[in-house]
Amino acid sequence: YPISALPDDFGAHSDDHSRIQEPRGQIENRIEEVIEADEDYESDMASVSGECDSLRSGTTDSMSQSDLVTSTAGEMIDEHQLYRLKRCAEGLRKEIGELKRLSLEMKDAFGDSLGEVQHLVESKTADFFKVLMDRYKAEMETRKTLHNKLVELNGNIRVFYRIRPLLSTRDQAAIRIDPMDEGVVHLHSNGRRTSRAADFVIPTNFSQKEIFERVSPIVTSCIDGYNVCIFAYGHTGSGKTYTMEGPCEDPGINQRAILQLFEASQARGNDIEYIIKLSMIEIYNDKIRDLLAISSSTASPLNLRRDASGHLSIPGLECRQVNSPGDVKQILRKGSISRATSSTDANANSSRSHLIVRVQAHAKNNVTGTTTIGHLNLVDLAGSERVSHTNATGQLLKEATAINKSLSELGNVVFALRQGQKHVPFRNCVLTRLLEDSLQGDSKTLVLVHVSPELSHVHESVSSINFAEKIGQVQTKGPAAFKRADSIGKATGVGGRQGNCAKTTLKKS
Ligand code: ADP
Ligand code: MG
Repeated sequence: YPISALPDDFGAHSDDHSRIQEPRGQIENRIEEVIEADEDYESDMASVSGECDSLRSGTTDSMSQSDLVTSTAGEMIDEHQLYRLKRCAEGLRKEIGELKRLSLEMKDAFGDSLGEVQHLVESKTADFFKVLMDRYKAEMETRKTLHNKLVELNGNIRVFYRIRPLLSTRDQAAIRIDPMDEGVVHLHSNGRRTSRAADFVIPTNFSQKEIFERVSPIVTSCIDGYNVCIFAYGHTGSGKTYTMEGPCEDPGINQRAILQLFEASQARGNDIEYIIKLSMIEIYNDKIRDLLAISSSTASPLNLRRDASGHLSIPGLECRQVNSPGDVKQILRKGSISRATSSTDANANSSRSHLIVRVQAHAKNNVTGTTTIGHLNLVDLAGSERVSHTNATGQLLKEATAINKSLSELGNVVFALRQGQKHVPFRNCVLTRLLEDSLQGDSKTLVLVHVSPELSHVHESVSSINFAEKIGQVQTKGPAAFKRADSIGKATGVGGRQGNCAKTTLKKS
């Protein structure tokens, strides 16, 4: 109950009533104060809450304003960049337009003349190139003519390369003939090896007949009393026997050369009588075997002798006269069958001996009474592969050593002849001793260096190129050239040049 509800006499009935009157007044005053304060408080609270509300709404407003400001700022930045990009793109577009316009103007301006200029440049370049090529070819011709003269002065030794075709389509050719210089080959393996100019590189597609056409002039000179040597050099399998002997249906140089000599001798007039004789010799382990001997297996090795007139001879050697083309073929076949072969690791059918088909062309001049003899030596050399490559032992090693020695001696002899050296080492092996008369003096020599195109034979090819380069070096100055020029200058007479030791004049009738 509120204190104000107490009856007025409540204090009168108690002694304490008077005592509590004063505090009661104080309490009532205090209550009134509190009530007043409460009212004030409530009104204050109401106003505070109003203020709070207004503050809160103010805050919300300011927050959304701040968001707005932020997004507006972002948009402003984007727009600014966009504006700059747009301006840039506009500038570029303008530039492209300008360039297009310029190119169109250029096209209009040069449209017609551009084609003309291009045509002019092309034709001028072609003309220039043609002039250069013509000059180059003329230079090559001059070089060839001079080279031929030089070769004649340097012992008349020529070097040809023959690259046989690839035997399998799976193989890749590692050798190429220079398209601009018919005397140069390029070998491609690890790096490139270019040969020094030989006299000629026989194109791979040349037939046996075409090859013989290149060789035939020196063959014919044999019936004019010259001594001629044709060598097939190269490793086993490089095509030496194919070049010299060839298959029956497409024979090589041997048969064609002898038939040509035979035919040429028949075609000459009655003033000169010719006799063509054939012998076939094998040099095996530095020993001479007669391949035309009646019984070649039992025949003992033959020896080389110098006869009373100083000429080399092989006493006991079969020498068959050729009376018809049939004779030529039959004799060659017999000799070929008798040729010794022995297998090595390098090639089961490799030829381990040198084969010499020796043709003697006797020419008796019925007017002057002189007889001359020209020798044609057709030599299918044994394989030039190195001993270490064949894993040979015992007898085969002996063979290989003899072959290597004779081939290197042959190289030394040809080199010495070409360089006009005073001492020519003929006597170091049977092969060079046997050919001594045919190699020196006013003789003619052709070395056909055979090279296989396969990459697997590249080492052998390099060594064959080295051999060709060694023997192919011409001497450009020195006494030999003048000496030989002098000898050639003296040449006279029927049936070839006189006054030299190569041509053998036998007797006067
Ligand atoms: P080499 O006497 O040097 O050992 P060959 O003459 O026996 O070599 O030739 C080896 C192989 O290559 C043989 O099968 C031969 O028929 C072939 N051959 C060589 N030269 C040619 C060529 N020019 N055209 C076609 N085949 C060839
Ligand atoms: Mg052979």
